[in-house]
Amino acid sequence: MNIPNFINLLSDWLVGENEISLLPRQKWIQVIVLYEVQDYSIFRTESGEELNTEELIVDGEKIAFPVLLGRKLKAVQRRTGHAIIRSVRDEYACKFETAEGGVTGLCRKCPECFLRGAAGGRGEEYNIQSRVFYSAYYAIEPERLITDLFTRNAIDDLVKVTGAALTSNQVIKPQAHIPAIFSLYSVTERELIYFLKTVQRARRVGARVTEGGLIKPISVAITGYRYELLSPLELSLHVYKLLKNDIENLWKIPTEKIVNALKSFVKKRAEAVGASLIIDKDFLTEADKVSDLDLVENLFQKEVKKYLSEIEEYLG
Ligand SMILES: [Zn+2]
Repeated sequence: MNIPNFINLLSDWLVGENEISLLPRQKWIQVIVLYEVQDYSIFRTESGEELNTEELIVDGEKIAFPVLLGRKLKAVQRRTGHAIIRSVRDEYACKFETAEGGVTGLCRKCPECFLRGAAGGRGEEYNIQSRVFYSAYYAIEPERLITDLFTRNAIDDLVKVTGAALTSNQVIKPQAHIPAIFSLYSVTERELIYFLKTVQRARRVGARVTEGGLIKPISVAITGYRYELLSPLELSLHVYKLLKNDIENLWKIPTEKIVNALKSFVKKRAEAVGASLIIDKDFLTEADKVSDLDLVENLFQKEVKKYLSEIEEYLG
């Protein structure tokens, strides 16, 4: 299996071949990406139909920003992970099944379940805690600048008049920018590569929609340290404040400029404490070049095998 070079720079903060265990080491990897929204999109809460927004205080002023919830990304990345494994292992049966009281169908014995967690049903002997942590992610452009109101109407077939089925949706416009941070706790290099593959390939948010929700991930940085160095909130607020004049006057500012602002912020933070840092690599593309078959087989034969043997030993 060919491991991309950048992985070596993170070795202090990745679990080594002989350390693989369900008992965590104090090793954190933070993967920072910038999402560029590609289409009119609605990022909703679980129950609501409305666009999610949050009012933040910026220099004493209240400003509302659209929010992309981490659990939305987690669900789409997990489905992508299932599809990657299924593509190279015909017998793989792990999947989401929604049932009364939650999700079932997760097998609790595959790389995806061991990385992103899985709860068994009532009476099951073990649950797996997720080692990938998500947050709420804030657009760097305020709501009033990057959202629009879309009205849909249904035309009556017979008399061709607009019926009562008139609905309005607030949508995020294309080219909005949303920085995201994924924190991975006590993972191996193979688990990190697998995770990056799911980020690279998960590009549509919202399982129910067949239009909108298209997002493009851009590699910003990866850090390794003994705790989580950065939060998505401070990252978004920093970029907004730094580029405030451009954002308020033009709102469509070049993606490159935002990427650079993010990189310099992350770099400063990492250098202040001596954290490991990857900043000049397109790590999403590089990780995705690793063979799916090799990676998945190795994950089953090494990580999964070790985790299952620990569980079996414990359960007797
Ligand atoms: Zn599974």
